[in-house]
Amino acid sequence: MTMPGSKYEKYVIRKPAVLVRDGDVYVDKVPETDELPVWSDLDTDPRVIFSNDFIPNTHTKIEYGYITGDINVGNGEDFNPHKHDYEEIFLFLGTDPKDTAKLGAEIEFWLGEGDDLEKVVINTSSAVYVPAGLAHFPQIWKNVQRPVMTMMIMPTTGERNLIMIPMEERLKKALPGG
Ligand SMILES: [Zn+2]
Repeated sequence: MTMPGSKYEKYVIRKPAVLVRDGDVYVDKVPETDELPVWSDLDTDPRVIFSNDFIPNTHTKIEYGYITGDINVGNGEDFNPHKHDYEEIFLFLGTDPKDTAKLGAEIEFWLGEGDDLEKVVINTSSAVYVPAGLAHFPQIWKNVQRPVMTMMIMPTTGERNLIMIPMEERLKKALPGG
C-alpha cells in the first residue's frame, strides 16, 4: 500500500525484486504478482529489497532471504560460486527472540579459490565480510532447526558484474563425497 501525497514515499521500497537467471546473467526483476516466487521449500532465494532499481544512483544493494532446511546454496544448481570487484557482507541471523545469538543451523561457507580454498563454519548469528576479489560459495547448510534469515549487503555497488568460478574445481573439497 503506497501513501499518496507523501514527499518521502519515493524513499520507501514496499516490494522487493527477485533474481531472474538466464545462464550466467542475473537480472533483478520485480514480480508482477503480489506473492514472491520461492526457489525451493528450503530456500526462498534472495529478495532484493534495496538497490538502484528503486533508488536511482544509490551505490548499495541489499538482499534478504530465508533458509529453512538442509540445502547446498551456490553450488552451481541455483547459482555459481563467484567473485566480484566490490565487497559483500553476509549476515546469518537466527530467529529465536529468546536467544538472538543462536543460529539454529551450521553453515560451511567456502571462501577463496585454488590452494586458498577453505571453509569457515558458522554456527552462531554471524556476519562474514567478503572483500573485493575473494571467491565465495558454496554454502552447505546442515542441521537447520528453524528458519535462518540471511542478508547480503553490497555497500559499494549498483551492479552485480559477477565473475563465475567453475564448481568443478571446488567439488573435490567442498561437497560431501566429492
Ligand atoms: Zn557475491
